[in-house]
Amino acid sequence: ENPLGVHLRAMGLGAGYISVEAVDVTESHRLARVRRDFVANVSHELKTPIGALQLLAEALLDATEPASATAPDLSEDLVAARRFAERIQHESTRLGRLVQELLELTRLQGAEPQPAPEPVSVDWVLAEVLDRTRTTAAARDIQVVTEGEKGLTAYGSDSQLATAVANLVENAVNYSGEGTVVRVATHADDDHVEIAVTDQGIGIAPNDVDRIFERFYRADQARSRSTGGTGLGLAIVKHIASNHGGRVEVSSTLGGGSTFTLRLPASPPDDLETILPSAGI
Ligand code: ADP
Repeated sequence: ENPLGVHLRAMGLGAGYISVEAVDVTESHRLARVRRDFVANVSHELKTPIGALQLLAEALLDATEPASATAPDLSEDLVAARRFAERIQHESTRLGRLVQELLELTRLQGAEPQPAPEPVSVDWVLAEVLDRTRTTAAARDIQVVTEGEKGLTAYGSDSQLATAVANLVENAVNYSGEGTVVRVATHADDDHVEIAVTDQGIGIAPNDVDRIFERFYRADQARSRSTGGTGLGLAIVKHIASNHGGRVEVSSTLGGGSTFTLRLPASPPDDLETILPSAGI
């Protein structure tokens, strides 16, 4: 792309001449940016009222607490009010998560500058992921175990990599039966560092596999909604992977569990040394 935003594409090297096709990409880039900025602004503006709703729901729940001195004996109306307050709390938490993930996605799509890449300890990422997913896994009596190579290094953003792997582990937990095991395995070769998340869950049908990384696409609408997910988790993982020069792959059998593999480059991006001249890489 040249400074005028025009792609010049060589079309053919036929009988001694090259034909060149000019495509104006300025307008489509501009529109994509306008759309991202709009989603980012709306999401940001929604955060405050959603936060207020959550606080108000909490206040209502406190005020209708049966054991409290202020409401020792709840009337039928208060019982109903309490039930509504619980629903408001549940739905506003869910809305808050949706807005948070929409913001995250627009950031990853380039609405904001990406953090400079740094060496990231894969052991740290896994420890962080186990920490973040402990409560969800325990609630479903699911054991999350790590295995494979220790001491591996990836390059990029530690928080983004932890978010990506946590999303994969959360899905593994959400789409598996109680009492099953989720494995997080690390492996490296000369070119790649891999983090693979394997579950013994419901699996994904072949015609859904290609689409699950799309925003809001869900293989099983009813089940997905009941997990409280937003439908954005895998889109976020995909963007984090590609921003890190890597990719995410899935292999799955319907009814037989799934493996999601995050594959990252084993060497630092070209510009890392200029960013971290004394890091000794
Ligand atoms: P959600 O919030 O719905 O989980 P995601 O983007 O994380 O959104 O996932 C998209 C869809 O992919 C899910 O709704 C589910 O149908 C399917 N999916 C993701 N991970 C798994 C898994 N480990 N096992 C089975 N299905 C999965």
